[in-house]
Amino acid sequence: MLGNANPTLLLSLLILAIVVGCGLLVLLIHHLEFLSFRKMHATLTNMPIAVAVLRKKDCSLLYANKPCRELMGVRKINDRYLYPDDISAQMVSDFLRPLNKLSGFKNIEEEYQLLNGKAVKLSISGQSVRCQWQPCWMLFVELKREKRGNHAKLEQEQRVFQQVLNSLSELVYFQDKTGALIGTNKAFDRFWRGRVEEGVADHDIALPVVSGATHSWTTAPDGSSRLLETNRNLLIGDTGEAIGTLSISHDVTDWHEMQEVLTNEIEKREVTEQALAQRNTLLDTILNASQDPIGLYNEHGVYVGCNEPFARSLGHTSESLLGKRAKDVLKPEQWAVFQQTDLQVIKQGESIKMDDYVILDDGTPIWYEVLKSPYRDPTDGTMGVLVMARDVTERKMAEQQLADAIMELQELSFIDSLTKVANRRSFDEQLQRMWHGHIREQHPLTLILCDIDYFKAFNDNYGHQQGDFALREVAKVLRSVVHRETDVVARYGGEEFAFLLPNTDLAGGEKVAWKVHRALSDKGLTHMYSEVDTKLTVSLGVATITPMPGQDYGELVEMADIALYKAKAMGRNRTMSMSDNDEF
Ligand code: GH3
Ligand code: MG
Ligand code: MG
Repeated sequence: MLGNANPTLLLSLLILAIVVGCGLLVLLIHHLEFLSFRKMHATLTNMPIAVAVLRKKDCSLLYANKPCRELMGVRKINDRYLYPDDISAQMVSDFLRPLNKLSGFKNIEEEYQLLNGKAVKLSISGQSVRCQWQPCWMLFVELKREKRGNHAKLEQEQRVFQQVLNSLSELVYFQDKTGALIGTNKAFDRFWRGRVEEGVADHDIALPVVSGATHSWTTAPDGSSRLLETNRNLLIGDTGEAIGTLSISHDVTDWHEMQEVLTNEIEKREVTEQALAQRNTLLDTILNASQDPIGLYNEHGVYVGCNEPFARSLGHTSESLLGKRAKDVLKPEQWAVFQQTDLQVIKQGESIKMDDYVILDDGTPIWYEVLKSPYRDPTDGTMGVLVMARDVTERKMAEQQLADAIMELQELSFIDSLTKVANRRSFDEQLQRMWHGHIREQHPLTLILCDIDYFKAFNDNYGHQQGDFALREVAKVLRSVVHRETDVVARYGGEEFAFLLPNTDLAGGEKVAWKVHRALSDKGLTHMYSEVDTKLTVSLGVATITPMPGQDYGELVEMADIALYKAKAMGRNRTMSMSDNDEF
């Protein structure tokens, strides 16, 4: 029947069959393709790393698994995948363009800004695939940190560790258990450059290592000798066995030198302290042995050392005195004197000697000869005053007695012991001195000789003692009539007195004479045996000379004597005068 069929129809049927067959084939293939994509989809979805499939042509996203969406921020809307806002298909295309001819690439690093703003490094690998009839890239994206997690962390830690080691000034090195050097820091490298063996040579590589410091002298790169102190420690592995050693060397040269200096200093100090202690003992011994008061006070006037006699002289014991201020211990007037001398001692650095009069608590008066000397405190260099006093009361008493005796002697030799006016010797000396002075100055010098009238009768009748009393009274009267300091009243003889009146002319002398008569009359010493009066009277001879060079003072005496003689001759109780112009 087929043989009778229309060939055209047959051809048509054949073509139809082919088309249908082809269509079915395409559908089958498409279905298979779809199944394979679904399968891949399912596989990729469950993968722990980020995977994306994109079309090579325009880099549009065909698929992104969940890790990819989370990592890159890819959005999925229905069955469509959209790049995050900050990534465009163009950017991805730019990245992939140079790789398009390859069938795949591995671990290309790319920095990417995460949604939280943090920049991360991505490691991207790609595989050229066909998907949905089109050439595609299947990209595997890994967060570099995540992918290489522990390793990177370890590397980072090692780097930090090395940096820390390098920042140390100590020389650090590691050896494995065979003694081979496996690590150093920069300080070690610098110090031992070119002679590393020397740096580790001292160490026995045998394990176990005994910990503890070793010291060795070596030469630093700058040629200086340095002392290294090395501590060696065992490095223990995870399993607990020794895996090597860590050695750390310190340069302890400065420390060592400082130690030496310190040791020397301590030795010196010990010697000084010994000497000081000896000196203190010596000082204490001297202080305690001395009967003389010795004390020390500092520049603030605080007593810092003393012996008992010193404290006693200030009404204290040494215990109660030390630490007190001189200002609070001394009487205000004493303090004023002491302060003045202290300033002199401290400022001028000179010793001062002075006398001090003290009345002790029991009323005993004591004279001290005080020596104040500057004193430098050896501990702080401040200035103070060392006071040494000597009891010179006995000497002072003796001096006083001597002075009294001398005074007495002087009185004896220049003063008339009965009447206390100048004696004859003194009269003669002063007349001579005045005489020469008046020759130089050409001034008149007046001498008055005075003789008590009828004194023999007085003595004879009233007795010698009354006579002496009368002599003393007359002397007082005579002294009372002259007021100039330079005027001299002297006992010239038994009951004779004399006035020496410098720079006084005859009229002046006569005035004095008149005053004598008047004062004696006022005194009214009874003399019932006088032939001129019922009272004691005197006769006076006044003489005045302005002496010429070469002239003898005897002339003046002679003139006064003549005048006195005249007064006696004229009836007593009167004055007669003579001057240069009068005839003898
Ligand atoms: P006039 O001078 O007036 O001529 O008579 P007169 O009696 O004073 O005479 P004259 O000068 O000679 O006598 C001195 C007397 O003075 C002698 C003596 O009795 C007396 N006389 C002298 N010295 C002392 C004396 O130290 N003490 C006493 N008590 N009498 C003395
Ligand atoms: Mg006489
Ligand atoms: Mg007489």
